[in-house]
Amino acid sequence: MSIETSIAALVEDETGQPYPYRAVELVEPDWTRFPGWKDVTAAEWESVQWQRSHCVKNLKQLREVLGDLVDERFYADLERDQAERATMSMLVPPQMLNTMASHVAPRGAGSLTDAFYADPVRHYMLPVFSDRRTDWPSHPHATRDSLHEHDMWAVEGLTHRYPTKVLAELLPTCPQYCGHCTRMDLVGNSTPTVEKLKLTGKPNDRLGAMIDYLRRTPSVRDVVVSGGDVANMPWPRLEAFLTELMTVENIRDIRLATKALIGMPQHWLQPDVVEGVNRIATLARSRGVSLAMHTHANHANSVTPLVARGAKAMLDAGLRDVRNQGVLLNGVNADPHALLDLCFRLLDGAQVMPYYFYMCDMIPFSEHWRVSVADAQRLQHHIMGYLPGYATPRIVCDVLPHLDRGRRRRGAAAHLHLLRPDPHAAAGGPRLVGAARAARRVRAQGRRGGRGVASYGGAPGLVTYSPVTGRFS
Ligand code: SF4
Repeated sequence: MSIETSIAALVEDETGQPYPYRAVELVEPDWTRFPGWKDVTAAEWESVQWQRSHCVKNLKQLREVLGDLVDERFYADLERDQAERATMSMLVPPQMLNTMASHVAPRGAGSLTDAFYADPVRHYMLPVFSDRRTDWPSHPHATRDSLHEHDMWAVEGLTHRYPTKVLAELLPTCPQYCGHCTRMDLVGNSTPTVEKLKLTGKPNDRLGAMIDYLRRTPSVRDVVVSGGDVANMPWPRLEAFLTELMTVENIRDIRLATKALIGMPQHWLQPDVVEGVNRIATLARSRGVSLAMHTHANHANSVTPLVARGAKAMLDAGLRDVRNQGVLLNGVNADPHALLDLCFRLLDGAQVMPYYFYMCDMIPFSEHWRVSVADAQRLQHHIMGYLPGYATPRIVCDVLPHLDRGRRRRGAAAHLHLLRPDPHAAAGGPRLVGAARAARRVRAQGRRGGRGVASYGGAPGLVTYSPVTGRFS
């Protein structure tokens, strides 16, 4: 959806504001509306074991839940995407599937087809082939590890990219797989189009090497403990790692990264997990370490009473904060109303702090989701002034890490040029103008590779063309 269109559609109501705030009561959609879950009890629904064993992992299982409420056209579209485009395998917990098409009452065969096609959560959890751009499915600079995290591994799984912060990827799995995942290189099962990288070290050795690195690197004070999703690590092992981490004198900030708080809040509501979080939060407080949870909601529909209960359990257990880091995605939330609805739902209903929206990274086949830097800046402007200042999320764009080395300004600016859309994008998609001419010149000179000047969206810049791969970089 276009930011211009959505802004133009905003209406002023009696508040006199483009965004008319209203407090909204959270609702758990009725899962028994789906044929496959018509007999599922509330106790089953709230059981994490039931949720994990009923995740939808393939088309057959999706059909068993939805039956003929969605017609064959949709299933075929999804099947084609899985075969030809998907960079993540299918894994949708019942909790997440239940938030799709939740505002439309089923009325027989095919009655939810349109609602499923239009649904914002479906757009990124169950992407279909027809969602993707055909003219411009991937950016020419799209890569499997678009943030070059592996290049910056200090030890396996520990990305040391910023001066004082590290990212610890403890494991390569999650309770749910998001179609836009920036760690698609490593996370999840291989798909027909992507053979996933495998971690090679034994889990205990890898975690031990991370702790050793942090002990001998006193310039690091902040660790994002992630994956994958830490909800997939058995709690005793996670607690042991966190306890060890807190013996490292220089570590002052720890953030636990888990989308499961949104996708499978039942995990964080288990009594033994809540008790464990309480132990570790108490330890953190006694050592003056700030321990928080970072979660990942992209749309207001995902914030249900169970999610709110999960967040409250974490805060009551002693975490300093629960913050949201969403991803800015066309078709999901790239609209000021959608962003503000989500932020207010998180803040009012679930005490979750809106924190960041990351721009979708340049992974393969993601152009239909990606929003230009210019539109992101306009969105940031349009959401200012409604939320308290401390809860107004920043929309951020990760730039290539190696550009930080020595020539940060020029590098970052160049990268932004690459992200800028062509002024004619609406007609034909972003274009690398002059690239073909540069490539012809390189080929004519018989070089193995070479550089030429091309422009992207009117911004001139150097491109490197490889006649071996036929690609620009
Ligand atoms: S939860 Fe996070 S790491 Fe897991 S698939 Fe989604 S975006 Fe990727």
